[in-house]
Amino acid sequence: MPETTVFRKLLFPFSLAFKDTQVERDFLTDYYRNSLAHVRRVMFISLLIYGAFGVLDYIIYPEIANLFLKIRFLLVAPLVLLTILYSHHKSAHRKLQFAASLNIIVAGLGIMYMLFAGGRELALVYYVGLMLVFIFNYDFLKLRFVWASLTGAILLLFYYLTAVLVGFDSKMLIASLFFLVSANIMGMVSAYFYEFINRKYYYSNRLLKIEEEKTHEINLNLENQVKERTATLEYANKLLFEAKEVAVESERLKSVFLATMSHELRTPLNAIIGFSDLISAGEIEEEKEYREYASVIHKSGTHLLSLVENLFDITLIDSGQIKLVTGEFNLSDLMQEVHTIMNVEKFKIEKESIDIQMEKGNIELDFKIVTDGHKIRQVLLNLLKNAIKFTESGVVKFWCDEVTENNKTALKFYVQDTGIGIPLEKTDLIFDVFRQVDDSHSRKFGGVGIGLTVVKKLVTMLGGEVGVESTVDHGSTFFFTVRNYVKDEFLPKIKNVSEQELTVSANTKALIVEDDEASYFLLKLLLEKYKIESDWASDGETALEIIRKNPKYKLVFMDINMPVLNGYDTTKAIRKSSPDQIIIAQTAYAIEGDREKVLEAGCNAYMSKPISPKKLHSILAEVL
Ligand code: ADP
Repeated sequence: MPETTVFRKLLFPFSLAFKDTQVERDFLTDYYRNSLAHVRRVMFISLLIYGAFGVLDYIIYPEIANLFLKIRFLLVAPLVLLTILYSHHKSAHRKLQFAASLNIIVAGLGIMYMLFAGGRELALVYYVGLMLVFIFNYDFLKLRFVWASLTGAILLLFYYLTAVLVGFDSKMLIASLFFLVSANIMGMVSAYFYEFINRKYYYSNRLLKIEEEKTHEINLNLENQVKERTATLEYANKLLFEAKEVAVESERLKSVFLATMSHELRTPLNAIIGFSDLISAGEIEEEKEYREYASVIHKSGTHLLSLVENLFDITLIDSGQIKLVTGEFNLSDLMQEVHTIMNVEKFKIEKESIDIQMEKGNIELDFKIVTDGHKIRQVLLNLLKNAIKFTESGVVKFWCDEVTENNKTALKFYVQDTGIGIPLEKTDLIFDVFRQVDDSHSRKFGGVGIGLTVVKKLVTMLGGEVGVESTVDHGSTFFFTVRNYVKDEFLPKIKNVSEQELTVSANTKALIVEDDEASYFLLKLLLEKYKIESDWASDGETALEIIRKNPKYKLVFMDINMPVLNGYDTTKAIRKSSPDQIIIAQTAYAIEGDREKVLEAGCNAYMSKPISPKKLHSILAEVL
């Protein structure tokens, strides 16, 4: 179907109004807006022309020109001016067409009156003026078809009434009918098509606009989608980049860790193996040299042990195998003991120039406290060892304050040094496992970066937090709080292990149940210092055999992990036959719960390997 036919169906055929009332309303508003300037202009021009015709009145019919001028300038002209003014009013958009029609009708009626007043003679001349009115109505003013047709019809009607009244003869009537009706028909057709095209143009534009809006909306949606996708992609990229950074960093950390571990294990092992080779080769002449070599081996061994202990601690804390073991202790004693240990420690690592000072905090420390003193001691020692390790010379201080946080008291321990300090951006990272400020190959200080991890985990168990404040090249202050504690009345000082009295009666004999010959040999030598003779059983069954044959042993040192019959079962078997036998467990398993297990099996005491003279002394003092 042709486009115009389709369009025609949207309109009422006579009025040309859109069937869709909303479209019609929009069209009228649009038409008003577009035609307003034109209407004003045209009315103004017509006013001028209409006024100029006043001259014609004088020339053609001066006798009644005055009356004509009154019609022109007292009726029609003011009405036109008023209409122009009215076009500025807000209601004009609905009524301007009507007002314009009224103007034309009044102007037309004015002419009719002139015809009437002027009689037949004048009518012949002035009725031509009616043509101008029709042109003005249908074409010049561009009234809508409906209004123009209505106006035209009304004027025609009045014209014929006037013509009859004036007494036009029939020829004149027919001629004027012929011309004026034709002029009206032509005007109507012209107005009809003008409006039809106008409406069609408006409608296409409207469709175009709707399409445009749709396209715009689609574009907006597309833009938004593109924006969203771009943001998602950017975010994914960022995550990828971060993941890559993490992967690269963890790869680097893995290599650093392996290199550090290898270095930290091989260095002491190198000394241990090298110096023990020298000793066993038997080429050393001076006893002093022996001692020096033995001391190096001891130092390296101790270093290795602390590394292993720290590694174990991390794993055991994480797996929940290290628990808080609360007990009573005197805080002052604990601090004093730590001070003593550190004063020995500094010599071991050749930092004797460092002055380690135990400062007085804001409380008297000489009070009884119930918490896990062993863990506090371990944390303090770790921090102090780091303090002297990372300080060339100067002072290392430590003290304890009592602080109040959220209405609760807590113990706050401080360890302050005048060492190399820590850059601000690394103060959090150093508490992570295997992380160090300097992890390069050229680093100056040894260590594998686990000490502070152990510290953090232990402090967390104690219900507190650890932190550090530091300035590079000026020193650091580490601090930690302990919240899970109970403060009680003053407690008598606990004796130092080395001060504990020990009397070993003559002919005391010991049986060392131990599958590792070196361990047996070491214990035998240590016992000889107390004049205790010892025999060796390399497994549980041999031990039972020896004891059955010869029950003369006052002490039995029992290893736990052994072939044939393990330490637990051997102990239980001995207990059955000799309930009074003193059995001391000695084991390389040094984890939480081991002590309880061996005591449950029937041992009297427990000693973890490696066995030091000090440890042995305190155990012997306990059992003998
Ligand atoms: P390690 O000392 O074996 O490297 P730690 O976990 O005890 O491991 O310490 C981690 C890192 O923290 C150290 O390598 C060091 O860079 C930094 N650090 C710890 N204590 C101090 C301190 N007192 N002064 C300066 N740096 C320190």
